[in-house]
Amino acid sequence: PFEVLVVGGGPAGAAAAIYAARKGIRTGVAAERFGGQVLDTMAIENFISVQATEGPKLGAALEAHVKDYDVDLMNLQRAEKLIAGKDLIEIQFANGGSLKAKTVVLSTGARWRNMNVPGEQEYRNKGVTFCPHCDGPLFKGKRVAVIGGGNSGVEAAIDLAGIVKHVTLLEFDSKLRADDVLQRKLHSLPNVDVITSAQTTEVLGDGQQVGALTYKDRVSGESRKVELEGVFVQIGLLPNTEWLKDSGVTLSPRGEIEIDIRGQTSLPGVFAAGDVTTVPYKQIVIAMGEGSKAALSAFDHLIRTSAP
Ligand code: FAD
Repeated sequence: PFEVLVVGGGPAGAAAAIYAARKGIRTGVAAERFGGQVLDTMAIENFISVQATEGPKLGAALEAHVKDYDVDLMNLQRAEKLIAGKDLIEIQFANGGSLKAKTVVLSTGARWRNMNVPGEQEYRNKGVTFCPHCDGPLFKGKRVAVIGGGNSGVEAAIDLAGIVKHVTLLEFDSKLRADDVLQRKLHSLPNVDVITSAQTTEVLGDGQQVGALTYKDRVSGESRKVELEGVFVQIGLLPNTEWLKDSGVTLSPRGEIEIDIRGQTSLPGVFAAGDVTTVPYKQIVIAMGEGSKAALSAFDHLIRTSAP
């Protein structure tokens, strides 16, 4: 069996694998798609000490760094079940295989909920984006929309209002769902318009860049157009934890793995890190720090529980 088996190969999983391997213990990492979400983006400008990089480049660097160590890297492996036994934890995979380990680090990440409207995929990274902390500065002096009036949408609109020329916040429901204090702040800003009962219907552009979006006014039924250069979609981040239902790992009401400050989950020997957990602020540097921390906690668990 592995001493540490990491499930998920994004920034959190890569960091966990490296930190575990550096302790000289038997380490494996199994991932559905090694690299994770960074493979879906281009410009990355907030990976501290690297002024600018690109997603695929960072993904390749993660893989090269892991391969510097004695790590069993198993790509294209989709975990489907976690079974906590008396001494070992078993992970079963979609291909029928299974692996056993003394400790595991869960780092299966998350995915942004899409609007599923025409133009959204076509203009991804050409104006359609999901991450205000990442891409806000790219829209300096431009007009943007934020889709979604929950806490993340309203926080994004407040954040962006300080950077961009104008923000239009579109909410499907008849009212915003964000906390009152955020709504008050939002309404105090001069360069933000809020439109409720608005169903986004299409993202338009010239083939290269976003130029507008259309929405249906759900009260009048009319279709309207907003001219802009950017669309921030903030309608939910879904943790990849469906496979952990019934495993005994406690999930939050949003489906995120609950962890303590050491990355420990509700099951002994099972640690978790990165976007899949309750950790606030889903970012690359944070996922890497969390992955490192979870691996060190797994090592600490091993030296306390393994026979000498
Ligand atoms: P992920 O990167 O989501 O990795 C999860 C891993 O688990 C993947 O290998 C996946 O294949 C695997 N996996 C999932 N389910 C299973 C399963 N059942 N079995 C096995 N493996 C599984 N952050 C920044 O800091 N700066 C940026 O500029 C930035 N830009 C972004 C742009 C886009 C378009 C997106 C989508 C995200 C961006 N982010 C950015 C956020 C950043 O990518 C994430 O915070 C980070 O990748 C989280 O790392 P992670 O390892 O926790 O999860």
